[in-house]
Formats: sequence, C-alpha cells, structure tokens
Amino acid sequence: MIAELERARGLSHNDPRLIRRHGLMALAISFVHTVICLFFFVGDYFIASLPEFIGILAVIWAGNLLLFSIMVTDKALKWRDPSLTVPWTLWLTTAFLVTSYFVDAFRISVLMLYFGAILLASFRCNFWKVAALSIFACVGYALVLVLAFADRGMTLNLSVEGLQWLIFSLSCCGFAVTGTGINHLRGRLTDKTELLEKALTQVRDMAIRDELTGLFNRRHIMEILQQQRAIAAEGDYTFSVCYLDLDHFKVINDTYGHGAGDKVLRRFALLLKDSLRDADYTGRLGGEEFVLVLSDTQQEEAFNVCERLRQRLDTMDFSDVDPALHASVSIGIAEFRAGEPVDEALCRADSCLYRAKELGRNKVVAEFSENTDSPRSISHRA
Ligand code: GH3
Ligand code: MG
Ligand code: MG
Repeated sequence: MIAELERARGLSHNDPRLIRRHGLMALAISFVHTVICLFFFVGDYFIASLPEFIGILAVIWAGNLLLFSIMVTDKALKWRDPSLTVPWTLWLTTAFLVTSYFVDAFRISVLMLYFGAILLASFRCNFWKVAALSIFACVGYALVLVLAFADRGMTLNLSVEGLQWLIFSLSCCGFAVTGTGINHLRGRLTDKTELLEKALTQVRDMAIRDELTGLFNRRHIMEILQQQRAIAAEGDYTFSVCYLDLDHFKVINDTYGHGAGDKVLRRFALLLKDSLRDADYTGRLGGEEFVLVLSDTQQEEAFNVCERLRQRLDTMDFSDVDPALHASVSIGIAEFRAGEPVDEALCRADSCLYRAKELGRNKVVAEFSENTDSPRSISHRA
C-alpha cells in the first residue's frame, strides 16, 4: 500500500525522475525528427546544401542540449514548471516548422511530429497553454507556406498545401481538447492520491495512538522500547523507563464524574507532551497509567524530569472542571540495563511505582544504583 502510494506520488510534477523522463522524451522526438530529415536529405527531398543542412541540425541540437541541461539543474526544481514544457514545445515546433520549409514533398510528414510534442505538453499544460501552442504551430505553418510559395510557388500546389494546412489546424484543435482532458484526469488522480495519503496517515496514527490522549498506545510504546534496546545494544547508550500512575483516580471519577476524569487524563497528557524533548516518547498504557521513554537519559536525570512533572500536576489548576478537583501522580523510574529484555526494565519501573504508592503517593521513586535489583534497595527522593 505504502509502495503504491510512493509510486503514485512519483506522478508529481516536481519529481526529478519524471522531469528527466520528460526531457528524454523531448530528445527522443527530436531524434526521430533528425532521422527523418536525414532520410529526406539523402533522398534529395531536402532543398538545402550540406552545410545548410548540417547548420540547421546543429542549431536544433544545441537548443535541445541547452534546454535539457537547464531542466536537470536543482534550480529548475524551484520553477513552476521544472520540465520547461512550453520552451521545449516551442523549440521542437520551431525545429519542425523550419525543416518543413525545406521539404515541399513531405512537409506534412515532418509537421506530424508536432503532435508527439503537443501530446507530451498536454500532460503538463492547461487548455489555454495547449491552445496557444497550437496557434503558434498553425500560424508558423502558414508562414512557412507563404515563404515557400514566395520562393518556389511555381512548383507547389496551392489547394493541396492549403488543404493540408487546414487538416493540420483542425487536428491541432482536436489535440488541444483531448490534451486538456488528459491533464484534467491527471489532476484528479493527483488529488485522489493526496486524499489517500491523508487517509493512510490517519489510519497509521490510529494504529499507534491512544484515542483519548493522542499519546502512543501500549503496542507502539513496546515497539519504541525494542528500538531503544537495539540502539543500546550498539553500545555507549542508555535510556530510562518511567511508569506513571495517577493517584486515587477512581475517587476522581466517582466524585467528579467520568467526564472530569477524562479531562484530567487529557490535560495530563498535554503536560507530558509539553514538558518533554522531541527525542523522548510518551505513551498511555491504558486507564490512568502512562509510560515515558527518555532517550539517552540516566536515572538521575530522569528523576529530575519526573519530579518536575509531578510538581506541575500537583499544582495544576482544574477549577474550570471543579474548584475542589486536585490530581497527583506517582512515578517509578528504571534505567535500562544492557542486554535485559524490555519487559524487565518496565517491570522494575513498575516496582518503583509500587514503592512510590506505598510511600504515600504523589512521589517519584528511582532505582538507587545499577547493581540493585530489588525494589527495596531504592532511592526515593520525594
Ligand atoms: P491508585 O492511587 O492506587 O492508583 O488508585 P486509583 O484509584 O488511581 O487506581 P484504580 O486502579 O483503583 O482505579 C483506576 C481508575 O481509572 C478506575 C477506572 O474507572 C478509571 N479509568 C480507567 N480508564 C479510564 C478512562 O479512560 N477515563 C476515565 N475517566 N477513567 C478511567
Ligand atoms: Mg492504575
Ligand atoms: Mg491510579
């Protein structure tokens, strides 16, 4: 699903791969044009001397390479159309028009290549741009005919040339309309992809977040703990796990109602989010129990962080919910020990929490040293 979205995102006009592909397509069209001109020249249908012929092709390819080298620069990415669609189409059309002047017998076959160029442009341009490019081609074609008739009028058939011009112009109108349709479809596809992307983000968020508080849920916190453990396994890194449990929450619910209890949970979650660094993780295990994963943090530092949190909740004003409402939290802290399963670290934090409750609640308890396993050998500084 994600890979498909990535592929769909590749349709963005600013995707460098797509821009390069667009340039290569333009070069391919120009290459076909060069080959056709070569055939005409070899077959003596191209009314120009060899130096003139080489000069024309050299100018065309100099322009091609200039456009291609501009479009692959980083600077072009900042432009509204980094693919340089309009300059490319104008340049290719000019090349077709100029060479068509020299091939009276096969003029229309050279100009047919214009439809390849305008098809490429229709992926990027709106109706008005495609229409303007078509007018440029039709007027240019008319000018080529005027010049050709002025030079070699005796050998040309006015009605055949005029009819071909008319068919070409009508085909241009048809392409302008269908090209716009393609562009419209493309726009809708892009909109749908964006919507899908948003929906996917929402679904992903729902899978890892707790609905009430917006904090990470238990499953995701366990994944984060595993990731932290993997980082710690690489050496010279540790983290602290803090187990938080709101005190006498049942009493809060019973006294002020479940709605008030929910407000306390949400506000406490906000306090946690606001108080921690971006590198830390906050989750709700369920009910009124929370976990903090403080990355690159030893227990002494974690203790200070949690003590600050405890004090901030202790002094938090809930008068808008009820003037008498007061909430407090007990916290147990364990520093991860290299190699241990994450459940064990969580279990030790829970033991410290248990001790904090025993000590009368509204307390922070951290393990005293790395060598002490028992919850009895703890340091509580509350
Ligand atoms: P202690 O100080 O020992 O932790 O006591 P306590 O009352 O906080 O703990 P206890 O486990 O007895 O009660 C937890 C209460 O949390 C009971 C339950 O109704 C309430 N609770 C669990 N989830 C929610 C919730 O999503 N919203 C609200 N408002 N209450 C919840
Ligand atoms: Mg509890
Ligand atoms: Mg509780």
